[in-house]
Amino acid sequence: MNRARLSKRLALAAFCLGAASCAYSSHAVRDSDLGKPIGAKAMEAALDLPGPVTVDTVVSADWIVPLAGLLNLGHAKAKAAGLSDRDEPMQIYFHALRHPSRGLWVVDTGIAKDFKDHPADLGIGWLVARELHLEKMTTRNALGPWLASQKEPLAGVMLTHLHIDHISGMPDVPRGTPTFAGPGETTPRAATNLVLAGSIDGLLAGHGPLRQWQYQADPDGVFEGLLDVFGDGSVFAIFAPGHTPGSTAYAVRTPQGPVLLVGDNCHTRWGWDHGVEPGHFTGDQTKNAVSLGRLKALAARHPAMVVRLGHQE
Ligand SMILES: [Zn+2]
Repeated sequence: MNRARLSKRLALAAFCLGAASCAYSSHAVRDSDLGKPIGAKAMEAALDLPGPVTVDTVVSADWIVPLAGLLNLGHAKAKAAGLSDRDEPMQIYFHALRHPSRGLWVVDTGIAKDFKDHPADLGIGWLVARELHLEKMTTRNALGPWLASQKEPLAGVMLTHLHIDHISGMPDVPRGTPTFAGPGETTPRAATNLVLAGSIDGLLAGHGPLRQWQYQADPDGVFEGLLDVFGDGSVFAIFAPGHTPGSTAYAVRTPQGPVLLVGDNCHTRWGWDHGVEPGHFTGDQTKNAVSLGRLKALAARHPAMVVRLGHQE
């Protein structure tokens, strides 16, 4: 760790100790300059029409984590199914969106080239690296090499939320690339952020302010808020808080029909199929369950919709 980084960490630690808790990240935020508010009725009227954007879901890493984090094992349905905590295989994804005029975007970032083997080089503290159990992770397609193999440059990043496994590719994102996320993602306070915040800041270091989606209440009352991201009805940001304060799902109109990128509103296939929200990885299970119910209802109203979950196929 260089001296400047060390003194920044010490200043952050002193600040957090003084406050007894600490924000999730001190990275700068600003209002998004992209996204036009839209109602659920207007979005859903367009959703099943063939659209111009393609979606490739790329497995960036395989990982094994406790099922109790991914799934609320206290839920009556999980109990009835006899589920108990165990090591659960999962994937870390990024989704490549290609828009005919807006270019190549990614939803979430997978992992950076050096994330598994050299986390300290990316600003990940040793305690955080230990807790992540990186020995249980296998790199498949790191973001940097994947981007280098593409014909077009990366135009922007849309995040489902700011958890570490969704921003761990940010070190491979070219500096200056506009990056969007839901509102309030940096603000949750917790004593554990004393350890975590430095690593989150490290992954975002060198990038411009996070551009926060400016949601307005859905006039149709179906969702908390919806944005037509490019203003052309091709990609929609769906405000689905609960897992984190600004958790966002994305609906994309492709030539083959709509694709729903659920994010960590639901990590697992079992959770989606049975309508059971995530476990202790989620911030507010009650709110998360409401958002999950709304997304499942959306998918049910549009049977042609392909659903991509947070961490399993
Ligand atoms: Zn996740």
